[in-house]
Amino acid sequence: MPNMPDGEAAPMPSEGNEPCFCGSGRKMRLCHKSASPDSRAARIVRLYREVEQEIADYRASSPKQPPCREGCSSCCSDYFPVSQVEFELLLVYMERHWSKAEIEEAFDRAEENLLALKQENPPMYDSLTRPVDRKGELEAVRHHAGRNSFPCPLLDRENGRCRVYPARPFLCRTHGSSHTFYGGWRERLQPERICEHIDGGRAHRKITPNIADYWPRYEELADVRVGPQRRLLRQYPIFYWLVLYGRHGGGKTTAFGGRDNFDLPIGEHNARMAAHGSATN
Ligand code: SF4
Ligand code: SF4
Ligand SMILES: [Zn+2]
Repeated sequence: MPNMPDGEAAPMPSEGNEPCFCGSGRKMRLCHKSASPDSRAARIVRLYREVEQEIADYRASSPKQPPCREGCSSCCSDYFPVSQVEFELLLVYMERHWSKAEIEEAFDRAEENLLALKQENPPMYDSLTRPVDRKGELEAVRHHAGRNSFPCPLLDRENGRCRVYPARPFLCRTHGSSHTFYGGWRERLQPERICEHIDGGRAHRKITPNIADYWPRYEELADVRVGPQRRLLRQYPIFYWLVLYGRHGGGKTTAFGGRDNFDLPIGEHNARMAAHGSATN
């Protein structure tokens, strides 16, 4: 979390009057108006704002503050996966706010990051580039993920600031709070699972807002659910999403094909996705 939470009030969804998911600050109906206010993207942006509000409330009310501050960016070198809709939200933001050269550079940097991962963390590289399912991916993350030698390609390395801050993914918003969601609660409290700038164990809990309860809601939006059926979708770190979209999508641009994450109500989208692949319990 290299910048500070912006503390925007959480809006209630209504007929596209909520701020657009792209971070423009305009109402959705005046910005990306083909988007559905009930889409996966719109819903996850509302979740982002709730988490921001929770953290802002904590900061306003607690005498003990987490050490997270603008420019503190060690956590941006962590290996962590994000969902596809979150990555597409980043592309939408970059499309509006970045130059063509900056966008191309991020794709180039991502290719370099993949080569570096191959050298420095072969088990994580293998898991990343093989067709394991989401459960396998989470197991690999649990055992092999750590801090990369390189930061997220969307970080400004000069000043340690996130260059997509208004659109940053869910996990980026949780750094400095309940930091890790992987494993059981004992594992989550181990100091090595928490940022080195934050004390581990009970001390960690005492100085950070607890936003762990948001995780199930995040999973609900990141995965596909139809009634009791659930299909877990693979996630990737930001640099690898860039590699995939760069190689198999619109090249080194923010263009991408299907906009179902934005344009379809999530229920309809889930039903379509479930019809095209087996859902699991
Ligand atoms: S989680 Fe750690 S590295 Fe990240 S902003 Fe907070 S104190 Fe800094
Ligand atoms: S998107 Fe990248 S640079 Fe921004 S907070 Fe997340 S990891 Fe850091
Ligand atoms: Zn927009």
